[in-house]
Amino acid sequence: MSTAVVVGGGPNGLAAAVCLAAEGVRVTVLEAADEVGGGTRSGDAIVPGLLHDHCSAIHPMAVGSRFLTRFDLQRYGLSWRWPEIDCVHPLDGGGAGVLHRSVERTAAGLGRDGPRWRLAFGYAADRFDALSEDIMRPLLRFPHHPVMLARFGVPTVLPGSTFARLFGTEEGRALFGGVAAHAFRPLHYPMTSAIGMGIIAAGHRHGWAVAEGGSRSITNAMAALLGELGGKIETGVRVEAASQLPPADVTMFDLAPEAIAGIVGDLLPRRVSRAFARFRRGPGAFKVDFAVEGGVPWTNPDARRAGTVHLAGTYAELAATERDVHAGRMPEQPFVLVGQQYLADPQRSVGNTHPVWSYAHVPNGYTGDATEAVIAQIERFAPGFRERVVGYTVRSTTQMATYNPNYVGGDIMTGAKDIRQLTFGPRITLLPYSIGVPGMYICSAATPPGPGAHGMCGANAARLALAYLARRA
Ligand SMILES: Cc1cc2nc3c(=O)[nH]c(=O)nc-3n(C[C@H](O)[C@H](O)[C@H](O)COP(=O)(O)OP(=O)(O)OC[C@H]3O[C@@H](n4cnc5c(N)ncnc54)[C@H](O)[C@@H]3O)c2cc1C
Repeated sequence: MSTAVVVGGGPNGLAAAVCLAAEGVRVTVLEAADEVGGGTRSGDAIVPGLLHDHCSAIHPMAVGSRFLTRFDLQRYGLSWRWPEIDCVHPLDGGGAGVLHRSVERTAAGLGRDGPRWRLAFGYAADRFDALSEDIMRPLLRFPHHPVMLARFGVPTVLPGSTFARLFGTEEGRALFGGVAAHAFRPLHYPMTSAIGMGIIAAGHRHGWAVAEGGSRSITNAMAALLGELGGKIETGVRVEAASQLPPADVTMFDLAPEAIAGIVGDLLPRRVSRAFARFRRGPGAFKVDFAVEGGVPWTNPDARRAGTVHLAGTYAELAATERDVHAGRMPEQPFVLVGQQYLADPQRSVGNTHPVWSYAHVPNGYTGDATEAVIAQIERFAPGFRERVVGYTVRSTTQMATYNPNYVGGDIMTGAKDIRQLTFGPRITLLPYSIGVPGMYICSAATPPGPGAHGMCGANAARLALAYLARRA
């Protein structure tokens, strides 16, 4: 029987572990923290029983993931829940761009931008499941659906700022821009439409879902399935040197390239260690979780029903803040993402006290305290918010990296998603999961298709590892 060690028990590490174990490989997962889950952990932090997602919260890319659906994780306790409205981008004065799961409803709310929204996203949303066969794997492959991919892909090379010009209303521009800014890149850079277009198309197909019982339910389900397949998980084991790795036929690293270089050391071919040394980091996230009595008193009524609220004001303001954080300057009014998962999953609340999730885009390694900037940005669109806050916890960029070593400087994307790293991962190669050492693979969100709890980096890397095992047999 072949054996595998998986270092890191985030969604991608566990996905790799499950895919290997399902093919009869004996798998051991070594996880540094005292529980698995990585960027999907949840728990109470402020008020006993009030459930917060410590990292990821909203999962449009995971719901329809081929990995998650292949293994029917519902049997292991994963259930998706949807808020009434997917996402709202409020503007000063009470107006807002409103994103519904339905393209038609979204278009209907965008006035003269409606037909353009339909034109921009209707095609990809209708075909998202087929399209994801091509976009949820390394891009440099002969596509399964070349015409569809070309129609979707050509606009994704545009800077977000060019794509945003398609929309004539402030609501339409800001709504698109807020999602495009998930790329953590200045929006005038090429290909900054790509991540936003992918999320919007996925959301129109599958909705901006939350996991019932917290994002931890996603990886708890994977861990339960792994156990059933005979896999083992050891927590509290931080691997820092190759000597700590038990002998195995394949080793999967759910880690950032810098960490892999530290562990594998001289075993890495020079071209790979040079590429890993050049790995670029993106801006940071400064996280604030709130306990809020009665919820956030948003001026815009749709924001009171939305799972996600994007706070930046106009598209122009948003673009300026993203430019600033990329240049290492902390903006006075940063882009703040707010999650109200409890609206879809009410068991997360305690009575009328609700968990509100938020983080701000800040420069990588930002050492200041952005709490007040986050509160002020919420207060701008929800006057009276401050008085409703019962308590809050903060995770700065440095604390983020301590919580999870993959998030160096608070970079929760596991690497800047510039054209090179978004297309190839940490190095330019047709095999982005290979680290150039036979039987060793990188499977974290540093590789295509990138961040999220979809597990597809792990599943894709496992396919390569299984092919290697088959060749050796
Ligand atoms: C604040 C925040 C908000 C986010 N919001 C969203 C969202 O709403 N939607 C979304 O889709 N995504 C979101 N993400 C991103 C998402 O969480 C990540 O892309 C995803 O978790 C990446 O999964 P992974 O398996 O590649 O790595 P990780 O989840 O980073 O897991 C890596 C695991 O490896 C472990 N580890 C690290 N070093 C070692 C070592 N040396 N030895 C052993 N174990 C080690 C870590 O403890 C961790 O458990 C968010 C992330 C953060 C932090």
